[in-house]
Amino acid sequence: MEIQFLGSAKEVGRSAVLVETKGKKILLDSGVKLGSGEEFPDINKKLAKKIDYVAISHAHLDHSGFAPFLVEKGFKGKFLVTKPTRDLMQLLLADYRKIGKMKGKQIFSESAMKKALKRTELIKFRDPQKFGGIETTFFNSGHIIGSSSIRLDDGRRSLLYSGDLNYRETTLLPPADTDIPETDVVIMESTYGSKEDRLESLKKTQRRLAEKVKETMKRNGKTLIPVFAVGRGQEIMITLQNYIESGFLPKTKGFTDGMVNKATRIHRQNSKWLKEEIINRILSAADDPFESDYFEIPSTRNKRNVLKYPDSVILATSGMLTGGPSVGYLEELAGDKKNRVILVGYQVEGTLGRELLDGVQKVVVTDEKGNQKKLDVKCDVENIHFSAHADYQQLMQYAQDLPDFKQLFTVHGEASKTVELAETLADKLDISAKSPSLDEWAVV
Ligand SMILES: [Zn+2]
Ligand SMILES: [Zn+2]
Repeated sequence: MEIQFLGSAKEVGRSAVLVETKGKKILLDSGVKLGSGEEFPDINKKLAKKIDYVAISHAHLDHSGFAPFLVEKGFKGKFLVTKPTRDLMQLLLADYRKIGKMKGKQIFSESAMKKALKRTELIKFRDPQKFGGIETTFFNSGHIIGSSSIRLDDGRRSLLYSGDLNYRETTLLPPADTDIPETDVVIMESTYGSKEDRLESLKKTQRRLAEKVKETMKRNGKTLIPVFAVGRGQEIMITLQNYIESGFLPKTKGFTDGMVNKATRIHRQNSKWLKEEIINRILSAADDPFESDYFEIPSTRNKRNVLKYPDSVILATSGMLTGGPSVGYLEELAGDKKNRVILVGYQVEGTLGRELLDGVQKVVVTDEKGNQKKLDVKCDVENIHFSAHADYQQLMQYAQDLPDFKQLFTVHGEASKTVELAETLADKLDISAKSPSLDEWAVV
């Protein structure tokens, strides 16, 4: 078996690992690297035509965003995905295309996007299937709905690609599977691969969120929570609902605005991919967490009907305030110190969210029409980080809980973190471990 790391090597973004065995070429993930300068995996037309199939771990664009480009480059095979991944790809790829076009970037055609979605083959968890003689199995990776770890077995050698991992139970999902067949080689994500990367318990994080919302309501202020559409939006909504139902939070007027609502619909339609407790709540229709009594979708495009409530809670995309309705709400709320913005996800450098986090008080916002406006930030800004990735301790635990393996590669992390995690696990598990460089080959 040969492996080439075409992306996510000593970096986060453009995940793409090429596996060659038995004369077949399999690509694990086909992502893009977003940010100020976009970067793609190094796959030319010649290679794209030779790839037999692509298995995609989950819908986030750093894992799926290159799929339509692959089709344009002449890839003719299938994309293996779970159903939630396919549904979310439809949403995220269309949005990626729309924003790319608006910014005048190089982007794939609509027909390439449709072809990619049409050529998906739906895979269930824990259901081994043979493609070109290679057994391919998807397992739950706990990160977002439908997210997978992918195992390949050619009969002689086997490989597990973790995908993005969460190894603790969240509001929506069970932790990643580790009860999988013994595997020779593991390729593991390392987003939080450094010893300093320790997260507080989810309970504590949820409680801090509820306390801050309560405090803001008490002083008659509005709370804006910019959220990522997929996963985080739903998790925050359900968390706040639970606190309202338990009586900790007063019954509030809540709103969800932007792409988060489409993503919530996809969660509802694919609810059997969520954890048992959520499925049961949906089945007993009176307690469906996605049919909220407390959160509603604004009925008009202008924000007046949302803003007329003095102590409302607003969940809006995008999560880093880089576009979408969250920016418009910030414009309305920033000037009053009674209000509060709570950032719940990672804020990339160069985004408005990051500026707020860094305490910048004079910012420039760009509205949906592209007009720029100066803004004085007088409201409170809070950072309460909900993570969809395993932290350092959970990554260690995950590697220990997998059946024994001999060789490890760490990907999907800043260079220093992939190196540190490889070194720590090599010592701890007495295995060979490496953080590969971009385009590096390995024979396993
Ligand atoms: Zn992800
Ligand atoms: Zn990722």
